[in-house]
Amino acid sequence: MTFSDLKLPKPILDAIEDTGYTEPTPIQGKAIPIIMRRKDVIGIAQTGTGKTAAFTLPMLAILGNIKPKAPGIRALIISPTRELVAQIRDNIIDYSLHLNVKLATIYGGVGEQPQIQALQNGAEIVIATPGRLMDLMEQGHVDMRGLEILVMDEADRMLDMGFLPAMRKIVKKMPNDRQTLLFSATLSGQIEQLTREFQQKPSTVEIGDRTNPAKTVRQCVYEIPRHLKFPLLLHLFKSPELYTVLIFVTMKHHASRLAKHLSQSDIPAEAIHGDRTQNQRQRALDKFKQGKLRVLVGTDVAARGIDISGVTHVINYDFPDQNEDYIHRIGRTGRAKAEGDAITFVTESEHRALADLERFIKRDIPKKHERDFNYDIPAPAREGGPRPRRNNDKAVKPKSDRRSPGKKKVGRGKKNR
Ligand code: AMP
Repeated sequence: MTFSDLKLPKPILDAIEDTGYTEPTPIQGKAIPIIMRRKDVIGIAQTGTGKTAAFTLPMLAILGNIKPKAPGIRALIISPTRELVAQIRDNIIDYSLHLNVKLATIYGGVGEQPQIQALQNGAEIVIATPGRLMDLMEQGHVDMRGLEILVMDEADRMLDMGFLPAMRKIVKKMPNDRQTLLFSATLSGQIEQLTREFQQKPSTVEIGDRTNPAKTVRQCVYEIPRHLKFPLLLHLFKSPELYTVLIFVTMKHHASRLAKHLSQSDIPAEAIHGDRTQNQRQRALDKFKQGKLRVLVGTDVAARGIDISGVTHVINYDFPDQNEDYIHRIGRTGRAKAEGDAITFVTESEHRALADLERFIKRDIPKKHERDFNYDIPAPAREGGPRPRRNNDKAVKPKSDRRSPGKKKVGRGKKNR
């Protein structure tokens, strides 16, 4: 299949050619024709599959084909994080290179005024996070009478983040004859409920295992005691192959601390998480994308869906809370046909969670043990790098970490993180 088979107009085909894509990805091949027929779609696809283009390309084609039915926004994309909003905007800018469309982005953490101004200037396509969008709606700045297309991107994550009430309020203000596209990595009962509420006779488009990063990204697990995580990380960074590396931790302050300690060890790193300002996050992302920063340390929420081509390695410094998070994390590498490696650190208390994860992804992950490595452990060696030693960090030898299976609870609940 080619993009011309999808009956996209010439200016869009030209823009696709400029991006260098040669053929539609599976989700694009399946979803675009249905969206072009103006039907509601449930797209079950993870990031990295080309799903953004799967909804933005037909959206641009449709808006170009029909006259505005009322003033105001014509297409609205709701997405869970500011980074995703920026990423979708960048994609639309690329794909609409030969068109004339007015875009606006709406998200928290920055001033409202420029966003209000962009709406007043007649933005046709708006990409927004739910919270700020609701604020601006309540202040009367968002006119949705002419809304043709609503996209809910990463709907599962928006539910996880507690955005359902905001989404309900937003959708209530929309015309019923809109087209609604909902994308989610998983199809849960909650998502089905959401589609019943927001969509009309949707077609489901699911893409098969082929694009599941758990099956395409090279994975391995390092079984190590907690206090040796940082020394092992430094050891791994001796390899020049770790060129553009995304490290995941579960807590915001760990992200900052780890980035600081890596930088102090001459490994340029920055943190990206919700407590940093939008500008700080964007600057860190830009530097990373431009290859000026070797490492980005993030939490699941902040790094969700971030699309950076050329991430060579994903390192799960902290084991993920949820199996789905593992899929999302490792999907940051090996994107769009490139190869990638995913390394996961596992401490003894996480062995049960690891077994559970392997059942979830239906495969064993190759294991390496700390004792198999011949690396220098800086003295004193501590988890998270050179911070003052705490009592419970003390003298945890590799053996003692293996000695008492089953003694500790498998702490996988969010409360433990
Ligand atoms: P997404 O799943 O939307 O986050 O997209 C993942 C990556 O795939 C992005 O870097 C896109 O630019 C890229 N991409 C999207 N469509 C295609 C395509 N048809 N061929 C190659 N790369 C693509």
